[in-house]
Amino acid sequence: MPERAYLDWNATAPLRPEARAACVAALDLIGNPSSVHADGRAALGLVEAARAQVAALVGAEPERVVFTSGGTEANMLALTPAIENGADRRPRDLLLVSAVEHPSVRGGGRFSRQQIVEVPVTAAGVVNLDALRRMLKPGTRPLVSIMLANNETGVIQPVSEAAGIVHEAGGLLHVDAVQGPGRIAVDFRALGADLLTLSGHKLGGPKGAGALVLREGLHIAAPLITGGGQERGLRAGTENVAAIAGFGAAAEAAARGWRAEAADMARLREMLETGLKIHKPEAVIFGAAAERLPNTTLFALPKVKAETAVIAFDLEGVAVSSGAACSSGKVQPSHVLAAMGVEAALARGAVRVSLGASSRESDIDAFLNAWKKLSESLGKERRGLAA
Ligand code: PLP
Repeated sequence: MPERAYLDWNATAPLRPEARAACVAALDLIGNPSSVHADGRAALGLVEAARAQVAALVGAEPERVVFTSGGTEANMLALTPAIENGADRRPRDLLLVSAVEHPSVRGGGRFSRQQIVEVPVTAAGVVNLDALRRMLKPGTRPLVSIMLANNETGVIQPVSEAAGIVHEAGGLLHVDAVQGPGRIAVDFRALGADLLTLSGHKLGGPKGAGALVLREGLHIAAPLITGGGQERGLRAGTENVAAIAGFGAAAEAAARGWRAEAADMARLREMLETGLKIHKPEAVIFGAAAERLPNTTLFALPKVKAETAVIAFDLEGVAVSSGAACSSGKVQPSHVLAAMGVEAALARGAVRVSLGASSRESDIDAFLNAWKKLSESLGKERRGLAA
């Protein structure tokens, strides 16, 4: 069977060898990290080593890292009115989320529907900071959630500028940074985030481990899962030691290698976008006017449905994904493109290509060959229709 080209890294990244080795080694330990005997302490040692690795990835203190089952759970844990800031224990009464957030943020976590307000983005997909300023009403106690980089377009958000605006208005800032590490610099303090979400499987760890990083002095008074006192009472239940150990190893590898990996991704992405336009100059690349992650291209060809394109690529051995969401059997145009003002007919054709640390020129060649075939067959179909 010919080799496949995996170009869907924003959905999930292949396991890094270091992460795999760490998971396998952890699976062979018997102990429960809460047990005081030597076996328990050995398991706890793995969890704490991983905590230090994940903290180092984003320049945070290890004791500020809370492990969760992934990015979704970290977002749910963060988005609660019950965030205490030092001695200030009054609940947050408003949640502002950007219109392009992942569904796990857009849903608003544990805020009521009436408390959630969407902050618009520009046509390039960047959060509108003037609108944010206007929406931060005096006398409210807002929590604001803005992602570091968008999972569909790759557009990087002006998070540290937003942090200044939010803090000046007495608010707190949560940053869903799931798509950042391994591709761009992610520094918890420089971003000015109060809370930051990470997910292990996006950077080469196993699926099912993530983390919420909390600024010093912040405390979540309403954990999502209560029971034993694991994760300083913020996330009860025996830890998924193997997944956490794999997450830690992936974080360490990403922290070490990301600059060189990102430079490679940028070069390959340039090849890809140039080739896309050569075969079909009318292809539209979304968010191209903004700063983007070096690995992501979201594009569409007028009048072509994303499902058709994704299946055609798949048959040619190339894994890409559609920018449209499929719910209850009906393909909906992406909320991200809708928020950018892209018309629904074009948005329905959005296809996302996302690269990663082990992507190679041969993957781009495979993609462009498939693209050439697809665009030629479309040309024929259209000529046939017109005749
Ligand atoms: N946030 C963003 C921006 C994402 O892209 C994703 C995953 O697609 C998540 C959150 C959810 O992360 P997880 O799959 O670890 O629950």
